[in-house]
Amino acid sequence: MKPDNTIVPVASAMVGGPKLVLCGGPCSVEDRDQILASARAVKAAGGQLLRGGAYKPRTSPYAFQGLAVDGLKLLEEARAETGLGIVTEAIDVETFDLVERVADCIQIGARNMQNFSLLRRAGRARKPVLLKRGMSSTLEELLMAAEYILSEGNYHVILCERGVRTFADHTRNTLDLSVVPAVQALSHLPIIVDPSHGTGKRDKVHPMALAAVAAGASGLIVEVHPSPDRALSDGFQSLYPGQFTALAADCRALWDLLRERKNATL
Ligand code: PEP
Ligand code: MN
Repeated sequence: MKPDNTIVPVASAMVGGPKLVLCGGPCSVEDRDQILASARAVKAAGGQLLRGGAYKPRTSPYAFQGLAVDGLKLLEEARAETGLGIVTEAIDVETFDLVERVADCIQIGARNMQNFSLLRRAGRARKPVLLKRGMSSTLEELLMAAEYILSEGNYHVILCERGVRTFADHTRNTLDLSVVPAVQALSHLPIIVDPSHGTGKRDKVHPMALAAVAAGASGLIVEVHPSPDRALSDGFQSLYPGQFTALAADCRALWDLLRERKNATL
């Protein structure tokens, strides 16, 4: 019903605007050195946003669950030093306020895409929301989940494709890039792509990030860790800082080329 595309401001980034938005950082905030090293790497690569979970939705209750409030404090420190905007996940209504206070953008994870009480709470937040597609959700279900947030009055919603479950086992998930133009045909909301969870394999992240830009994504959210082999979560899909620098440069080059060609034909 809204003719113009929505641009969502997150700190200095304009998601859905004229520049490619790059968000990088570890899966989880682990300690001060780790998050500060990650933030510096993302900043040096030209990224605008820092990701990192302080509350983690883990498959096993015995796995690292995040540093909670201490993690949020470390994210604030990283923002103060680098100026990067913070994207961090809220996993439940109970801890939502704490996350909302610190985040520049509140992530709702794939496992919570249809947690309707959490979506309604996000709709009452005064911060933008990054809504990740559920791992077995249709486009219709993703857009209706976004409606839960919009219908409470929060119009700053960013959609995110992060891979869906299929029979394929050469990757952790199957990155469904066709959802990008499909969303753009139906919705005014911007969509970004997560090639890290979308593939689960470090060596697949760079090519699929480029493919996401080619498909028309407004941005990328990528896991980056100063020493992925020691990561407490998702190390196998996390890039080394140098790899993120290369990804950022290539994706920006492709973005600029496509924009130049589009502007030339206008
Ligand atoms: C994450 O971003 O680290 C994460 C848990 O993502 P998803 O909800 O897409 O699995
Ligand atoms: Mn992760």
